[in-house]
Amino acid sequence: MLFSRATTKGCHLANASLVTTRSFSSTRIQKADFTHAVIGAGAVGLAIAKRLQQVEGASVVLIEKHGIVGSETSSRNSEVIHAGLYYGHDSLKTKLCLQGKQMMYDYCSRNQISHMNCGKWVVAQDDSQMGELQKVHEFASSIGVPVRFISSEEAKRREPDVRAQAGALESPSTGIVDSHGFMQFMHGEFEELGGTTALASPVTRIQAPGPNNKDWRIWTAPPSASEPQPFSPSAAVPEVEGEDTSITAETIVNSAGLYACGINNMILPKERHRTPFYAKGTYFSYSKSMPKPKTLIYPAPVPGHGGLGTHLTLDMSGRVRFGPDVEWVDSPNDLAPSPNNKRFAAALEDIKSYLPGIDTEAVALDYAGIRPKLGKLGAVASGKGFQDFYIKMEKGYNGFVNLLGIESPGLTSSLAIAEEVYEILYKGGKASKSMGRQEEISEPGKEFGTGGVQESF
Ligand SMILES: Cc1cc2nc3c(=O)[nH]c(=O)nc-3n(C[C@H](O)[C@H](O)[C@H](O)COP(=O)(O)OP(=O)(O)OC[C@H]3O[C@@H](n4cnc5c(N)ncnc54)[C@H](O)[C@@H]3O)c2cc1C
Repeated sequence: MLFSRATTKGCHLANASLVTTRSFSSTRIQKADFTHAVIGAGAVGLAIAKRLQQVEGASVVLIEKHGIVGSETSSRNSEVIHAGLYYGHDSLKTKLCLQGKQMMYDYCSRNQISHMNCGKWVVAQDDSQMGELQKVHEFASSIGVPVRFISSEEAKRREPDVRAQAGALESPSTGIVDSHGFMQFMHGEFEELGGTTALASPVTRIQAPGPNNKDWRIWTAPPSASEPQPFSPSAAVPEVEGEDTSITAETIVNSAGLYACGINNMILPKERHRTPFYAKGTYFSYSKSMPKPKTLIYPAPVPGHGGLGTHLTLDMSGRVRFGPDVEWVDSPNDLAPSPNNKRFAAALEDIKSYLPGIDTEAVALDYAGIRPKLGKLGAVASGKGFQDFYIKMEKGYNGFVNLLGIESPGLTSSLAIAEEVYEILYKGGKASKSMGRQEEISEPGKEFGTGGVQESF
């Protein structure tokens, strides 16, 4: 099977045709179709694909099951450029959030992608919450992230509608970004660099390299009428009848977000299988123009909580929204905002604690996103059971970089995650002559997964 670069936008893998010849891995007799296959075109997969395509001689295929890029978690979040206040010393989240924040500001400024360095306040209403703010202050100061406590006079003057009974901590480097604009730009850049996008191509099966096959083989199903694709314009999703098709690649990157454990389980043996957990977050819209703070307002973090609390964020048009709360759900498709009265009442209580003048009648269910979790674990480092990002070249599986649990601050960190993956492939251990492959030997010729990603859970 032959494939093209830069011409498959909007095409299923099976529709691609060869227009360019690659020249890399001169020591290899048989060449793979691509140097790198990246599974999943969310913010993280897009950033990785773009970064790897920048390597001389690389040819990257970005494989996405939907008919458009970035239609899952990457377009269902708060669009906050996080400062890196919560994730503890020595965590990947802290390292990549700090690098990613800077890279995001630079990238957006350079490329006129809509963003705003609007800052954020974390507010405390009692002594115990103030204790949490003290911890955040101490931690942020220790890693060089600017934060400062605001006096109550200053708080009243700058944000008269915000209640911060016990204190407020300001994080001036926090901001917001138009996540869609960010992803569209990265996608355009990837394709201009010569990368190939295979849309409407759900990965169903993966075969690791072995004695009879030097490369990774990846099968994708044709888009089926039965698969729900609510965000895909029908014109971009050709209905292709027939068998799964496959391509080969020298390395493979699992960046499948909520379905990343499924891809993991297609490749690794049973004892290394992962069970995904899903922490849904529902957002609430606000239809009145007042009160309308100019900065983001977060409650004090709760140790062990799956999220950062029902906060107030703004989008690029200045629209106020609240959320997300935390609700453990069983399915990655459970995306309808939860109309549960108890949860709604709890969210309103949270919001009223820092914005007492809110008109609760104007608060309504908006949308929901789901955090990909690896357990019922906390989002912040204080408290037990913190979940860090998992980004690794899998031992015994040469050329397989596995990304799991890429929850918040994944959007902020996306460009830094891409750099991390590049480093793992090209600079970690003994790099082989071939494109970013280490010299470890894969478990020979094993095939995992048969009937689609979800069945592999
Ligand atoms: C409620 C909520 C709020 C958040 N707020 C913020 C925030 O303010 N700031 C921040 O930095 N981060 C935030 N995050 C985290 C951030 O949204 C994610 O970390 C980031 O979007 C993850 O990007 P991704 O590319 O890894 O995953 P995704 O965007 O989920 O992309 C994965 C892609 O893989 C594709 N895929 C899956 N399976 C297959 C398959 N078998 N074959 C082909 N393609 C497949 C999917 O269709 C999808 O497009 C938030 C997350 C949530 C849930």
